[in-house]
Amino acid sequence: MNEGYSGFPKGYEIGKTKFVIITGSVMSGVGKGTFSASLGNILKLYHGLKIAPVKFDGYFNVDAGTLNPYRHGEVFVLDDGTETDLDLGSYERMLNQNNSKDNYLTAGKLFKMIIDKERKGDYLGRDVQIIPHVTGEIKYFLRNLAAKSGADIVLVEVGGTVGDIETSYFLEAMRELAYEEGRSNVCFVNVCYIVQPPSLGEHKSKAAQIGIRTLMQTGIQPDIVICRSHNPVADNIKEKMSVFSNVPVNRVFNMYDFGTIYTIPLFLQDLGIDAEVLKIIGLKSKTTNRDDFGEWKDLAEKFKSAKKEIKIAITGKYTNVHDSYFSIIKAIEHTAPYFGAKAELMWIETTEIKNQDDAKKALKDIDGVIVPGGFGERGVEGKIECVRYCRENNVPYFGLCYGFQMAVIEYARNICNLAGAHTTEVDPKTEHPVICILPEQEEVKGLGGTMRLGGHDVVVKEKSVAHKLYGSAKIRERFRHRYNVNTKYIDQLEKAGLVFSGQAGEKKIMQILELPNHKFFVGTQYHPEFTSKPLEPNPLFRGFVEACVDIREFDNI
Ligand code: GLN
Repeated sequence: MNEGYSGFPKGYEIGKTKFVIITGSVMSGVGKGTFSASLGNILKLYHGLKIAPVKFDGYFNVDAGTLNPYRHGEVFVLDDGTETDLDLGSYERMLNQNNSKDNYLTAGKLFKMIIDKERKGDYLGRDVQIIPHVTGEIKYFLRNLAAKSGADIVLVEVGGTVGDIETSYFLEAMRELAYEEGRSNVCFVNVCYIVQPPSLGEHKSKAAQIGIRTLMQTGIQPDIVICRSHNPVADNIKEKMSVFSNVPVNRVFNMYDFGTIYTIPLFLQDLGIDAEVLKIIGLKSKTTNRDDFGEWKDLAEKFKSAKKEIKIAITGKYTNVHDSYFSIIKAIEHTAPYFGAKAELMWIETTEIKNQDDAKKALKDIDGVIVPGGFGERGVEGKIECVRYCRENNVPYFGLCYGFQMAVIEYARNICNLAGAHTTEVDPKTEHPVICILPEQEEVKGLGGTMRLGGHDVVVKEKSVAHKLYGSAKIRERFRHRYNVNTKYIDQLEKAGLVFSGQAGEKKIMQILELPNHKFFVGTQYHPEFTSKPLEPNPLFRGFVEACVDIREFDNI
């Protein structure tokens, strides 16, 4: 350790991996994540470069697992079990690759690492400080990822807004990184928002100018400025931004609200942003084969031309905050075009559904129903009524995690005549605990990172619907649960016709259920939405959407 930095990881070579660092000014929520993931998409799919994305988050939670999805959006689970915020899901979908704990750094994780080290005596004799220890740890994190992944580019999204106290040391670390790596190895992109007050009708760039000045006061000179706006901005706004930021006007771009997430990469490329980024860091395309990008373009086309309209109902607790179901929404959105369809999502508040009549009313005109993941008792009885409605009326049903458990409860109550059957999560004293706590969870005390988490192998039964869709007997999917099907009831449920078509290899944990002779009735103890990607939709989402499209066509005859 010297005064400047905390050393390089093994195998690290300056210049071998370049860094593209994306910051945001003026305000959050203007699409910095979408921009970053779209840029990554072009750099990977079009230019054939190896990209390792990273998101820095300024909150003190060690991971996103304890965040309320109602306030913060869904908890996205990585294959290695890391619980992250939904941006990591966007990176997986847009880059068509998986992330790990090395792609996600929160302030909580960072400071925990440093304090643990301090207690071990790793800094013996030194006072531990923001500079060099915290910034050193941040730089080490990025270089470690570079060395481990062999990426051409580490693409860093600094969460929050320039000027936030919470992320100030992340920015300082990026300044140091650029100094140490050399300016030709680092490209800074600042995404700023250009306001257009309705009372004036015209764009005003003052807030963006001040935002960029704040960034420059931290010692960071942006190389590229992205002006985000609702409507296209005039050239004079770009010129002003250029003068205030020392960025040549040909490197000031305007990303106005344009199309969908599927067309944004094409839009950015038309503007030539990727070409400028590559010039700045001295890289060239690694491929002339544009097949992957061609596939992406095809999907964008399919998305635009999709005609068949389907209605999919999603039941759940957080129906007023759609971000809490972000990956499910995305999975339906990117799967539907493969069947020439466009899905309209209907949000069903299940606390108001008390019986089959209510379910019928809520679900009329619906082509398929999803009961997503959830916790606790709110709306549970309504969800069970919805499952019953789908089962009895041959309406496609897809139960995800809690939705899988609801399907087991419904079947136990209404087909196996186990009155009052329930999950012990909701009714600990139920006479028929068909869903109970996982044995490995019984002793668990804390709430952070303690569920059965992440990717696990699933053995799929031959000749089942799941097997037909996956085309394989061994798959891997991602989990996030504490409860599961009670082994004592498996025989009884199966004898009554419920098929458990997927199981954990090593333990008797039921992972997939389905009903034969039904249009589509499938539940998964895992979350298939986390592995569904635009270029490779999850096979079960394909099966579900296809079944929904079918019904609508049948209706139209
Ligand atoms: N609450 C259920 C469990 O813990 C389901 C969890 C979920 O839907 N993610 O098992």
